[in-house]
Amino acid sequence: MNKDTSTSDAPTSNFIRNLIAEDISNNKHGGRVHTRFPPEPNGYLHLGHSKAICVNFGLAQQYDGHCNLRFDDTNPEKENDEYMRSIKEDVSWLGFKWTELRYASDYFDALYQFALELIDKNLAYVDSLNAEQMREYRGTLTEPGKNSPHRDRTIEQNRDLFERMKSGEFEDGAHALRARIDMSSPNMNMRDPVLYRIRHLDHYRTGDKWCIYPMYDYTHCLSDALENITHSLCTLEFEDHRPLYDWVLDNVTLTSPSRPEQTEFSRLNLQYTVLSKRKLIQLVEQGHVTGWDDPRMPTISGIRRRGYTADAVRDFCERVGVTKNNSMVDMGVLENSVREDLNSKAPRALAVLKPLKLVITNFPENSSETLTARNHPKDDSFGTREIRLSREIFVEQDDFMEDPPRKFFRLGPGREVRLRYGYCITCNEIIKDDTGNVIELRCTYDPETGSGQTPDGRKVKGIIHWVSATEAVDAEVRLYDRLFGVENPLASDDFTEHLNSESLQVLTQCKLEPSLLLAEKGANYQFERLGFFSADSVDHSTETPVFNRTVTLRDSWAKRSG
Ligand code: ATP
Ligand code: MG
Repeated sequence: MNKDTSTSDAPTSNFIRNLIAEDISNNKHGGRVHTRFPPEPNGYLHLGHSKAICVNFGLAQQYDGHCNLRFDDTNPEKENDEYMRSIKEDVSWLGFKWTELRYASDYFDALYQFALELIDKNLAYVDSLNAEQMREYRGTLTEPGKNSPHRDRTIEQNRDLFERMKSGEFEDGAHALRARIDMSSPNMNMRDPVLYRIRHLDHYRTGDKWCIYPMYDYTHCLSDALENITHSLCTLEFEDHRPLYDWVLDNVTLTSPSRPEQTEFSRLNLQYTVLSKRKLIQLVEQGHVTGWDDPRMPTISGIRRRGYTADAVRDFCERVGVTKNNSMVDMGVLENSVREDLNSKAPRALAVLKPLKLVITNFPENSSETLTARNHPKDDSFGTREIRLSREIFVEQDDFMEDPPRKFFRLGPGREVRLRYGYCITCNEIIKDDTGNVIELRCTYDPETGSGQTPDGRKVKGIIHWVSATEAVDAEVRLYDRLFGVENPLASDDFTEHLNSESLQVLTQCKLEPSLLLAEKGANYQFERLGFFSADSVDHSTETPVFNRTVTLRDSWAKRSG
């Protein structure tokens, strides 16, 4: 049933693939490829991370190498188990297997030893400036910084203070361990960066063992080295951190067989949404969405619940490619990948979202006729199913116009259309309520048109979808739109101002063909003529069917903004 629609089997070249191929041919790192994906467990993963996941795991796969999943858990105040669980689930869902599951917190002892080594080499010192003073001493982009008065403490003093920092003698912020590099470096990251700070906080894994925690830049490179990582791939904002990455590795004694090298690539940015855990957490905490897995969220759990497939996301990441240029990608690119994937994978079904009752007046009462419907228009392996036509059916309100223009090939007074998989019907009578709303159509059907033909060869252009009124199942269908009304919400101070107030529309009167009662949570369908829909993984049940619109059949957004 799986149609090959992905482009990922024949990877296109990019600068990182070229670099790795070259490293292998030069036998650099002994010809090994070992990457890692290093999220901080301080939120749920988003589509930006899916790019980093595809890059790191994808390269390991392509070159028969390894990729670790490493939790970069050095900030105890923001990290927790729920985030870790979700990250593992999301990476697995995307179809990747990590070689090893690692935690930066497992290296706290080793990192402490490396810090002592730096102190002993007089390459690190304990500073006692407060945060504000430290900022002041740091200088600016145009002015060099100046040395802290504590910079010349002796090795013995530094050792003593650092050990006492560890044993909990000092308050948060009283001291910090800093690298002794160059306070006048044009690269701010090299102006004696902080390596350790005091934080009297329990860590979700190490408990109260530590009250000093290593900083990201110090931890990251050493974690890479301890795991024998060869290619440390990260996003461009870390380019200026690379000298520090190398400085740390150059100055401690490592026993790794090869030295990791950092290479940067551009972040993924998507229009009409935000890809940043810090911003996304705000949407969750302020109740703008129902949770991290709200189907409007650009989180992996959100798009999964919305009905996006892992194949589509991987295909999208491949299409976006890996470059050094930051750019904004149109949501339409992602939606196209989803549409293409679901088009080959999703079985078809009939559903009416905004029902209008239609009575076929010449159809026998209390009887029904079984028709055969194809589960996929092009792929026979999907098979067929039986649907029932009865005297009363529901059609889509939008498929009727009382005064239709000439090019409207659907229902109108006196107009003839074909019912999908069934007969041609002609609309003869319109019933309205007191306020003038059309509440029922009365039609006749032509029993000679069941074969898909018309006996006299007359042209019936329109085909509309329908469901039997006697058999239809009631359902709720949720329609989603862009979460934000502007292309780049982060361009303004308060990005939440640009939330699209119409990003969710809940339809509660929908009518589904009864076979959809068998839908399992998360199952994808195409509701013919309407789009791709997926049974909600949380709220859907046989008693109360709930479907999410994954994506429309065509790019309706392009039309609106274009
Ligand atoms: P956020 O800014 O959303 O909090 P982050 O960079 O802090 O993201 P991490 O958990 O540190 O999140 O990220 C793990 C990895 O994912 C890093 O290597 C990071 O470079 C990468 N990553 C994060 N966001 C993106 C993105 N938008 N595009 C590509 N890679 C990303
Ligand atoms: Mg981060």
